[in-house]
Amino acid sequence: MEKVLKKVVKFGGSSLADAGQFRKVKDIIMADPGRRFVVPSAPGKRFSGDDKVTDLLLATQMVSAEGGDWQSIFAKIEERYNGIIRELSLSVSLKDEFDKIRAAFAKGCTKDYAASRGEYLNGILLANFLGYEFIDAASVVFFDNEGNFDPVKTNRVMGHVLESCDNAVIPGFFGSNAKGEVITFSRGGSDITGAIVARATTADIYENWTDVSGFLMADPRIVKDPKPINIITYRELRELAYMGASVLHEDAIFPVKMAGIPINIKNTNDPSASGTRIVAHTEQYQNEYIITGIAGKKGFALINIEKDMMNSELGFGMKVLSVLADMGINFEHLPSGIDTMSIVVAESAIKGRERELLSKISALVSPDNIDIEKGITLIAVVGRGMIRTQGTACRVFDSLAREGINIRMIDQGSSELNIIIGVEEHDFDGAIRTIYNEFVS
Ligand code: ASP
Repeated sequence: MEKVLKKVVKFGGSSLADAGQFRKVKDIIMADPGRRFVVPSAPGKRFSGDDKVTDLLLATQMVSAEGGDWQSIFAKIEERYNGIIRELSLSVSLKDEFDKIRAAFAKGCTKDYAASRGEYLNGILLANFLGYEFIDAASVVFFDNEGNFDPVKTNRVMGHVLESCDNAVIPGFFGSNAKGEVITFSRGGSDITGAIVARATTADIYENWTDVSGFLMADPRIVKDPKPINIITYRELRELAYMGASVLHEDAIFPVKMAGIPINIKNTNDPSASGTRIVAHTEQYQNEYIITGIAGKKGFALINIEKDMMNSELGFGMKVLSVLADMGINFEHLPSGIDTMSIVVAESAIKGRERELLSKISALVSPDNIDIEKGITLIAVVGRGMIRTQGTACRVFDSLAREGINIRMIDQGSSELNIIIGVEEHDFDGAIRTIYNEFVS
């Protein structure tokens, strides 16, 4: 008999936005006995222009803190949940919970407490609908008093609690600190809870159910019908996520990566689609293309510095970077030539401080030339396949040259997992399309 794989399944807000979505989620869970631990988000948007419950809760908190009419916003939230209870004929009532939350708003609760109630209430409903045990995340996910997640205590306590459970629903997004106060992760943080539960239960797979069938090789707003990514490594994903590709909360990767648990991104509205599998190593999986994906980000500036014999001037780079550190400016990339050095920074980091920055660097290293070029966009071409394939960089550059796209900067990390190029903003879409077509079409 085939072994049943132990799965932690996290469902995002759109997967649990209304009763119809709850039914789909139940079908998915019941189709596989391995789907034992379920992490729900709060109800998301049912249609474009609809409200996410988390946003309504934050609005309630804000209006109550300002002394406004928060009751009417809270009534909308109650109705969202009551609608689901009615339509699914659930045997549970949230009346007492609503009373408690209303009392907390009246007394002036924290933002974190307010935001967390979306997942908390949804977890109660889902547990009732599935016939699973409900476990309050505040009793198994811990933060220290500075608000930092405490992975050691969480893993110990949660592991112990869930060991004796056949199946359970643990709401995502929040936990508590030593004072018993509710603390949330950053927005989208239910992904993190899912990863933490996967680690604590030593799951075989962490399934992350959302409303798309995994990652695409490029942004569909730029490339028409981009191909899906079937398999991606954690490191490749990190490179793409840094560049703005998003489906999964970035911090959700670390707990499962540490435990070597693969993540499978799946689509609640199309459960038979294979989705994207995120794994530690891919030796056993062949990729169809040399590149895995392309992502890009706008809003960078290049600080270009030129000085004859820069290469032999000891400590040159260190001095330049010390100016950035003193001014609290983070740098993103550092491509350099023999007598030139360029520093890529976010435009927002230097806004209004360009003159100060230039004069400080000039005073310290007396360059022959120094300027700042704004409106730079970065494009990352990511792929584990590039390590083994000669000529990938050449194909990237050649294809762009053929299209008349000027490359302002090139950076290839020593990992050979990615090539990052800088182009001017008006070339951004064209460059992404050109590279995609070169490798995929
Ligand atoms: N409900 C929270 C949010 O909207 C957390 C989540 O959905 O993951 O950010």
